Amino acid sequence: MLLGLLRALFGPKIRLPSDHVTRISGAAKKAGAADAAAAAAAIDKIGALPDIADIATTKRLPKGLDALVREMLAAYERYVEAVAKAMNLSEAARPGTPEGAVCCKIAPIGVTALESMVIFRTVRLWRDFPQVAQRLASLAEMQIKDIQKHHVGDPEKVAMTSKAVQQGRLDYARRGETCPFLDTTRGRCRIWEIRPMVCRMQHVRGDVSRYDPSHAEHAKVDVKNIRLPIRQQAALMQLEKRLVLQMTPFLFPNLLLLLQLAEGQSLPEVGEAPPRFGNDGLVVAKANRQNPEAKKFQKEKEKQKRR
Ligand code: SF4
Repeated sequence: MLLGLLRALFGPKIRLPSDHVTRISGAAKKAGAADAAAAAAAIDKIGALPDIADIATTKRLPKGLDALVREMLAAYERYVEAVAKAMNLSEAARPGTPEGAVCCKIAPIGVTALESMVIFRTVRLWRDFPQVAQRLASLAEMQIKDIQKHHVGDPEKVAMTSKAVQQGRLDYARRGETCPFLDTTRGRCRIWEIRPMVCRMQHVRGDVSRYDPSHAEHAKVDVKNIRLPIRQQAALMQLEKRLVLQMTPFLFPNLLLLLQLAEGQSLPEVGEAPPRFGNDGLVVAKANRQNPEAKKFQKEKEKQKRR
């Protein structure tokens, strides 16, 4: 036990590119200050929503939550862009783009429940959701197994800072499994507008293939991570605790947990009509009154012709 503790404290640190800490210069902080304040304001507004702590029991999100999370993400994106410009990082490769698609071979880790919920509500409505869900399940299982094989003791009690998690993350990253949200033909993220903050923060300079942990020169990868400022991070963490949703920091298992919470359906907001799902688990398309080809209206047209 003592040896394990000493190794954890003084042994070599296992780090993935998203773990690198980047110091943000004073000038860059200043450039992003207005957008950082906008992100803080969105977090405050989310915290003030009624019944924010009851999602697990009501299976409904407070009205306006989805839009506010998107507002927070948009403000953070502007902050990242302003800081990147001030730090000459605008040309760096980013996950979810053709130049940075290799970054999407490492699963997003450090994802909040709020981000997970908005992603879940979006992808649950996709026509290929059953295939995406299957892929999420197999990747989540790999992630869990990779961590558990290094863990000794109660499988329910694995600390995020433990060596088992660090080594398991690295083992998983070395598998080179592409994120299910990457459109591999275009090299683009399919959830770009709502992609997690951990994907947004990374800027890779130089040879981007070094990002892959199996690359011989992985240690030389040059990644700059533009994180949410500390104050906003702390406010977000406080808010996450209030949600009591038992989420993990891993995106893929989170989406499956939300699917379970939603009993296979979706998580509508209060006052929002829940989407209808067919027996095949796919969302039933709404009748489109504007579409002259819609079956119902075609029948009416035929009747009129006969008259
Ligand atoms: S969510 Fe998008 S940007 Fe992030 S790893 Fe997946 S495909 Fe890449």
